[in-house]
Amino acid sequence: MSDTPLKLFNSLTRRLERFEPVHPGEARVYTCGPTVYNYPHIGNMRAYVFADVLGRTLSWKGYKLTHVINITDVGHLTDDADAGEDKLEKAAAEKAQSIWEIARHYTEAYWADVKALNIRKPAKWSVATDYIDEMIDFVRSIPEKHLYEIESGLYFDVSTIEDYGRLARAVTEEGEGRIETVQGKRNPADFAIWRKTPAGENRQMEWDSPWGKGAPGWHLECSVMGWDLLGFPFDIHTGGIDHREIHHPNEIAQNQAFCGYKCLDEASKSGANLWMHNNFLVERSGKMSKSSGEFLRLQLLIDKGYHPLAYRMMCLQAHYRSELEFSWEGLQAALVRLKRIVNKTEGFQMPPGGVRPSHPRVQPILDKFDAAMADDLNTPVALTALEEALALKKVGEDSLVEAVAYMDRVLGLSLSPTGTRDELDRVALRIRPKDAEFTEAEIEVALARRKEARAAKDFATSDSIRDDLAAKGVEVMDGDPLGWEWKLSAD
Ligand code: AMP
Ligand code: ZN
Repeated sequence: MSDTPLKLFNSLTRRLERFEPVHPGEARVYTCGPTVYNYPHIGNMRAYVFADVLGRTLSWKGYKLTHVINITDVGHLTDDADAGEDKLEKAAAEKAQSIWEIARHYTEAYWADVKALNIRKPAKWSVATDYIDEMIDFVRSIPEKHLYEIESGLYFDVSTIEDYGRLARAVTEEGEGRIETVQGKRNPADFAIWRKTPAGENRQMEWDSPWGKGAPGWHLECSVMGWDLLGFPFDIHTGGIDHREIHHPNEIAQNQAFCGYKCLDEASKSGANLWMHNNFLVERSGKMSKSSGEFLRLQLLIDKGYHPLAYRMMCLQAHYRSELEFSWEGLQAALVRLKRIVNKTEGFQMPPGGVRPSHPRVQPILDKFDAAMADDLNTPVALTALEEALALKKVGEDSLVEAVAYMDRVLGLSLSPTGTRDELDRVALRIRPKDAEFTEAEIEVALARRKEARAAKDFATSDSIRDDLAAKGVEVMDGDPLGWEWKLSAD
């Protein structure tokens, strides 16, 4: 356990703040989860790598962590405000499948990415459609003055609370014009709490409510699951930076009204003490999207032969509040960096972690690591501390092993085996596209034959084996300093 006080950036107050738990010794965190109408792209997964590093850091600091990540299977419209269709209804209609099948399929795909990125399972995955009764009860507890009913549903009147949109920058910087208006709304930023099923329409997902048959609004579900599972105020609410504009201000408005707080003179009145947002992963061409260009799913990276933890490494190399540009060259560089680390740690017999080794030469490095993580989760600096430790000379392997295990508890790079995952090794990090012509075993056999030929000074055979491999896209790397004997030729 590290003693440096943890400071985190609170988007609500726009300040770095010392983490002071609501319940002594505990940390309660809510993370806005995926909308399961499609596969997550790697940008979405950056949000969960960030939340995972936060959770790991809190555990490592000795707090008893309760982390909730929700699964949005209803209510998220094609526009984050109130325009468009429900994303799941739309996907189900397009694929002629039931919403439940769609939700199950994409939830499982998301979980596969979570596992591949070594993101720890939260205490609970809360599924929105399991909380409909709680949502209805929650809305019934909101004083009527905040709500009004129109043909399309029950709406929240944002002018009835002070400080609406404090979290957002868009309201002050860009104005509210971008929020499409719905017929009958009192203010452009008012949002649906309950969307009624239009007369004559059939929805796959609809429930009876005091406001007619329909479905909950997306913002409502996060307010309710956060409140029900963690209690108001809980410690930290996380999400991607886009949520700072609409989704989280609306959650806060509901929470304030539900609790009877007119204004936000204290952050805790928002429902959470801290609101934290990761910046975006972007493509050179602009915003990452699931519909245009190459759909950057984690599976695509894996199919091209990259180990998924190379992407985790790429995320850790940037501070979570900085924009990060994705490029294949960047991923390659992250992979090489990870390989250099694994080259040194492979074969370490790691302890379970958490023990801070006491070797005097390791201390300053661990202090640097602690200070970096305590400084708003500065993983780029923390990674350099890990590398400095691995470069130390004349430090017994025991201390080094303990130091790596200690740091990897936070970084989550699988440098030591865990209950659910094997230790990373060099072979696993080899680039190996799924459509490669050669299997790894075949390459190894060819290389062994080549070695024998060279030993026998039969250079004709050894060259022909090398040429044969090259023709199949495998480049032999004699004398590679990392000990990588071959790589796939760049395409
Ligand atoms: P969604 O499934 O669309 O609700 O998004 C899941 C999470 O990913 C949310 O926290 C978003 O804010 C976040 N997110 C969306 N796009 C990106 C991106 N390009 N980079 C980082 N986070 C993102
Ligand atoms: Zn949410």
